[in-house]
Amino acid sequence: MSFHVLVEMNLPLLEAPTHDQLDQLACFYQRQNNEKDAEDWICPNPQCRTANPPVRNVFVNVYHTHCINSTCRKQIIVSQDFKLTDLILNDIDIDFPAYRQDDRCCTAFALLTGIDLVRRMKAAVLYKASDFQPLDPSSLPESFRNHFFVALGFEPGDLYRKRMCNVMEMAQSDGVKFLRGDGVFDSQNPDIMPIKIQDKFYVRQDDTFLMKRLIASGFPLLATILSGNRWSNVGACEVYNPPLSGYTYGHQVIGHAILLHGSGTDDGGIYFAFRDTGGENCHRRWFDDKGADGRLRAGQFDGVLYGFTLEGWLFNQ
Ligand SMILES: [Zn+2]
Repeated sequence: MSFHVLVEMNLPLLEAPTHDQLDQLACFYQRQNNEKDAEDWICPNPQCRTANPPVRNVFVNVYHTHCINSTCRKQIIVSQDFKLTDLILNDIDIDFPAYRQDDRCCTAFALLTGIDLVRRMKAAVLYKASDFQPLDPSSLPESFRNHFFVALGFEPGDLYRKRMCNVMEMAQSDGVKFLRGDGVFDSQNPDIMPIKIQDKFYVRQDDTFLMKRLIASGFPLLATILSGNRWSNVGACEVYNPPLSGYTYGHQVIGHAILLHGSGTDDGGIYFAFRDTGGENCHRRWFDDKGADGRLRAGQFDGVLYGFTLEGWLFNQ
């Protein structure tokens, strides 16, 4: 199954998989129901009473946004919370600590976190593999420096989006290498190939339901926000409200890139779960949350979010 045949092949950035394509993927990937899945929702409108089945996705089924009865269309508000990192796939816990970016660029580390998550899902599903070789966190910044002759660092204003695309290009061309030396890397076998992304796509932040379905289908999303001075306090189940204007560096507003790996609904509406790479100096909850997990409301990101497919996994043969 492939979605890139449906769009211009020479577009560097594809449109996100559509709802129809996510439906097809959900049919293609057979699985048992899990406790995070949405259930049937019976419309409380006395003139309707329609049973709304959940919207099926590869990993987590979600609720429709509105009653499927076209003469009713009552809004569906049900509490639901899921994170891809909470999934147990083939009895394997795929959760992992995020790599710490230190003074290196958040875009590269947000993408690294996303690639780490997806390769764990892929390995658990396809190979029942649970011993995950550490990735080399310097690999993407090094590729970037080799190609563009500048180091990734503080990214001013609208350069941010370009940087995100550039870093994804590095992950397409060079990929992410495995860490050599310590760990389980077999130094006698230098032929272990880097992990490469196949395609990169975008989704607009006002397409909230599609964002939610993409994550539930195994596509974590890269987002940028303006981080403010309370960013370090956000904890696992807390919603963070980014400031309207961020830290400045010189005269430029500094954005921050994060990975969205879950979603849910509470009294305040839809939120997205993120995992940050800021390290224990940026987040006092760093060690509790395997990075720094928290929540952000839909509508508080930079206008466009990015996703990717990994070679040999979902949409690729
Ligand atoms: Zn209804």
